[in-house]
Amino acid sequence: MHPRVAIIGTGFGGIAMAIRLVRDGVEDVTLLERAEDTGGTWRDNTYPGAACDIPAHLYSLADEPNPDWSRHYATQPEIRAYLDRVVAKHGLRARTRFGFDVRAAVWDDGTATWTLTAADGRTIEADVVVNAVGALKDPKRPAIDGLDDFAGPVVHSARWDHDLTLDDARIGTIGTGASAIQLVPELADRAGSLTVFQRTPTWIIPRLDRAFTLAERLAFRHVPGLRAAFRRAIFTEHELFHRAFRADHPLNVLGEQFARQHLRRQVPDRELRARLTPSDTFGCKRVLRSNDYYPTFSREHVTLETTGIRRVTPDGVDLDDGRHVPLDVLVLCTGFTVDDPLHGMRVTGRDGRDLDTFWDGRPSAHLTVSVPGFPNQFMVLGPNAGLGHNSAVLMIEAAVDHIAQAVDVLRHGDVVALEVAEFVHDDFLRWVDEELATSSWADGCASWYLNERGENFTVWPGDVGSYQDALATLDLADYLIRRRTDVPAALPAGAST
Ligand code: NAP
Repeated sequence: MHPRVAIIGTGFGGIAMAIRLVRDGVEDVTLLERAEDTGGTWRDNTYPGAACDIPAHLYSLADEPNPDWSRHYATQPEIRAYLDRVVAKHGLRARTRFGFDVRAAVWDDGTATWTLTAADGRTIEADVVVNAVGALKDPKRPAIDGLDDFAGPVVHSARWDHDLTLDDARIGTIGTGASAIQLVPELADRAGSLTVFQRTPTWIIPRLDRAFTLAERLAFRHVPGLRAAFRRAIFTEHELFHRAFRADHPLNVLGEQFARQHLRRQVPDRELRARLTPSDTFGCKRVLRSNDYYPTFSREHVTLETTGIRRVTPDGVDLDDGRHVPLDVLVLCTGFTVDDPLHGMRVTGRDGRDLDTFWDGRPSAHLTVSVPGFPNQFMVLGPNAGLGHNSAVLMIEAAVDHIAQAVDVLRHGDVVALEVAEFVHDDFLRWVDEELATSSWADGCASWYLNERGENFTVWPGDVGSYQDALATLDLADYLIRRRTDVPAALPAGAST
């Protein structure tokens, strides 16, 4: 058949999937985007200082190299411009329905098709759905008493308001994760006073950043194999770091020592240093990279506040010890609603199976890509496809290749539906849980990697190489295969072949 493929999301994942399918000769590829522009997280996160802490030559698509990255770690505007260029080069805007906020996806077993319905009532039919919405998309507003009563602006890092008046303002920031450590030094440059409300400190290691010289950029462009070799070298270096995510591995101890040394060098004040020192295992929360976050606290007008927030009042924040911090602007760096990956989208599969109910608070997918009961639906950066040590783009590329193989099966021959067998999915999940049980993410800290029951539904247990190996070949023996001639019901793989 000529499958009609609908891809939800136009971030790195959706873009990579569309390019691959079009290159493979799939003609009917439509991207669905809830916003009015492409770019995903790099469209949404425009806060001052936003950048990627994975080197640009690795945080980009292998088939869309950019020899002109201006520096080792690219900033948000540069990454966004890169994605815009890729989208333009492949004519993806013409394939995109903008403002199409998918609210429902329903599988019809009789016709073996999906019908997707947007918030505004528009619909689209597809034979294959690729969910490439990613995890870090909807800002999390913390449940803090009185937040709605604050009289001044309250802005989330992921929805930055560039018209905010920051100069000389009394600014408070809540949260000290990856977004905060990039934003805080920038705010300090403009604020009259800056109070950073920290609930839990995080391990931070140096960020070895620098601009590429013109000679280097020319060499990346003109010396055959140089850019690819450089990418390979950064990849290998980052892969080694994965071993640090086992609490009993010597690299974990070394990693913590490295972070402690960084803190000692940058924060001479012993008391301040103690408050910035995490008690969590190295790697339990995301390990951050920054050279300018710690030094910010040595500036006179910047305060690290580690007493808990009791409530937000119209003019500031009341602390647990009774003190009041007057503020003009409140900045939330409180992350994303990772625990709700569908964000209200109702996905109804075979025999009326509801995806949210099936997941029951623990999103899961075989090899992070396919879910039993949901034929011809695949995920890019799905459950357990996250990383703490290397480039998510590599995970996207491996998943895209895997899904392209599935689409290829549907294009050739008489197969109309592929659905992963439930026991295959369950076996995979058991393996994930066993592997992660001894990782540093399971070492007792709270993080967005875990759900309320403490199950890790976000991180891939191995290194990137193990993911690439696991997804390299689509194994049809794992799938229930429905052929054109079959009655409309999924058959066991053995019975259908
Ligand atoms: P995050 O890592 O989830 O951090 C959220 C912060 O908000 C934490 O410090 C958390 O404290 C705090 N927080 C949440 N609710 C709170 C409450 N009610 N009261 C006080 N504090 C509260 O979010 P993020 O910094 O936006 O980063 C999310 C992910 O985005 C990262 O892990 C990373 O994958 C990605 N990211 C990547 C980059 C990059 O350079 N590649 C940059 C930014 C973001 P606790 O720790 O105590 O919960």
